[in-house]
Amino acid sequence: MAKKSAKKALTKARKSKAAKVKTVPKQAKVDAKAETGAVPHMTAAQIEEAFLRFKQADPEPKTELLYVNPFTLLVAVVLSAQATDAGVNKATPALFALADTPQQMAALGEERVRDLVKTIGLFRTKAKNVVALSHKLIAEHSGQVPRSRDALEALPGVGRKTANVVLNVAFGEPTMAVDTHIFRVSNRTGMATGKTPFDVEQKLEAVIPAQYKLHAHHWLILHGRYTCLSRQPLCEKCIIADLCQWPGKTVL
Ligand code: SF4
Repeated sequence: MAKKSAKKALTKARKSKAAKVKTVPKQAKVDAKAETGAVPHMTAAQIEEAFLRFKQADPEPKTELLYVNPFTLLVAVVLSAQATDAGVNKATPALFALADTPQQMAALGEERVRDLVKTIGLFRTKAKNVVALSHKLIAEHSGQVPRSRDALEALPGVGRKTANVVLNVAFGEPTMAVDTHIFRVSNRTGMATGKTPFDVEQKLEAVIPAQYKLHAHHWLILHGRYTCLSRQPLCEKCIIADLCQWPGKTVL
């Protein structure tokens, strides 16, 4: 009897007004809409203000990957594809202690490199690429990391994003390496919308004021990694919440 009345009460509660809470917009759907450019865009003044705030909060942002020279930066970025920086940083100190030049990496060999990076996703392919790119640097670039997008992208395992990170961090070029965080933040905020990382990269290049371009890539990555999280963005602690145009934001 008690069981029956409890069931009745539950059914009644489910139908009550209190149970009809307004559902939060499905974030994936809102994100997909943003990628089509179907959400409001930030104005030039809002973009300038956003970067001013990023700069005031963190004047000299840095990559979180550990490296000791342009070669080890290149290797760390190759290893970081579809992996976290923290995960890469757990493996690379031991690797770089043994090999921080292309010559040493080539001498170490694929099997040994594979063993040293086995905690990182896709480690087999990555180890193969790291050794192959080391051989190519020795054969074609006197063992130096080239300061050229085309030459970098011709190395095994190096795509546009990796080349952009190396050009930015090792050589101080104002490039925009659009990873998953920058892609999400740019689309959500309405700073630069696009369906592909390349679209977003081109738009960011066009809208970011020159004085912020060198560090823009790090500010946007760090914002996506620690505040504008994919599933539960921390809008309440976001320093650009009032400028953000995303319909799914949870404040203002
Ligand atoms: S307000 Fe929210 S959705 Fe917009 S940038 Fe900030 S954290 Fe991301």
